[in-house]
Amino acid sequence: MTRSSVLARESLGPTVTVGEILVEIMATTIGAGFLDPQPLVGPFPSGAPAIFIDQVARIGGAAGIVAAVGDDDFGVLNVGRLRADGVDVSAIATVSGKPTGSAFVRYRPDGARDFVFNIAHSAAGDTRMTEAARALIGRAGHVHVMGSAFAIPGIAAILVEAVAMVKARGGSVSFDPNIRKELVQSGEGQRLVDDMLAATDLLLPSGDELLVAAGAATEAAAIERLLGLGVGEIVLKRGAEGSSHFSTAFGRIDCPAFRVEEIDPTGAGDCFGAAYLTCRRAGLPPAAALLYANAAGARTVTKQGPMEGVSSKAELDLFIAAAGREVFP
Ligand code: ATP
Ligand code: MG
Repeated sequence: MTRSSVLARESLGPTVTVGEILVEIMATTIGAGFLDPQPLVGPFPSGAPAIFIDQVARIGGAAGIVAAVGDDDFGVLNVGRLRADGVDVSAIATVSGKPTGSAFVRYRPDGARDFVFNIAHSAAGDTRMTEAARALIGRAGHVHVMGSAFAIPGIAAILVEAVAMVKARGGSVSFDPNIRKELVQSGEGQRLVDDMLAATDLLLPSGDELLVAAGAATEAAAIERLLGLGVGEIVLKRGAEGSSHFSTAFGRIDCPAFRVEEIDPTGAGDCFGAAYLTCRRAGLPPAAALLYANAAGARTVTKQGPMEGVSSKAELDLFIAAAGREVFP
């Protein structure tokens, strides 16, 4: 018998992630970098794991994050936002003597981005498996692994332990590889990715990440290899081209994107993944989860600021209806 879902039901416990919290400060003009004084806007709450977990909570899932912020306004701003949106913030440590992470970003005319990051040496670099973190993970039903968090010393080990703890109690794992080619070029990076794939129930790659993760030359070969490895569901994000679901149980399901004006693409993939996962954990079939996820991604890109476009279920229902589409056609 095929199981209708490889993802643990909501009743097993919250969705938990581990990773960086930061503020984003954005240039208001298009151009290259930060070599001249220029107008900026921010701080906006950010960090891929933080955006993801905020969207899980906003759409109605139980959610928690293991992270660290500094004893400063940027930390207060982030923790306040997450708490207000319903995220369990009990495992966010406040580290004295280090600032909250930050990223300055400016868009170039072709859409490429220049960054100035302070993450690895910020409080995020001091993320630890504290008592509070172990308590949160100990009652989690699902752990989401954000590939970007691997870049931060110490976080990979917490993620590996979290995956083992959650799997041991019958929970499930999702993985957004966010892989940079430079990471998998090191043997250790490739091994981390392979180990994570072996435990992954839901893989959420975008673009080339699918090929890099699978070590395959074509989309079809990558899907075949990953499903063969035991990955239960693969959901491929295709930006303004929409997305596709692949699984042995349901085959291939394509979902076209919603047509919107893109103001700021940051966070689309995180909100998409959070909406898909939370709908599946709530028992929705893949086609319906995919439609909600596409709607969540589309709404995100219409707002400036990475976490400003997160959506409630009611907002997504309205958005889907306004576009003339149906969750259960
Ligand atoms: P990120 O930039 O956050 O890393 P990503 O590359 O992981 O994102 P994308 O494929 O860019 O993920 O976006 C995720 C989903 O959001 C897409 O599959 C699509 O459903 C929606 N989306 C993204 N950009 C647009 C757009 N311009 N118009 C409509 N929908 C979009
Ligand atoms: Mg993208």
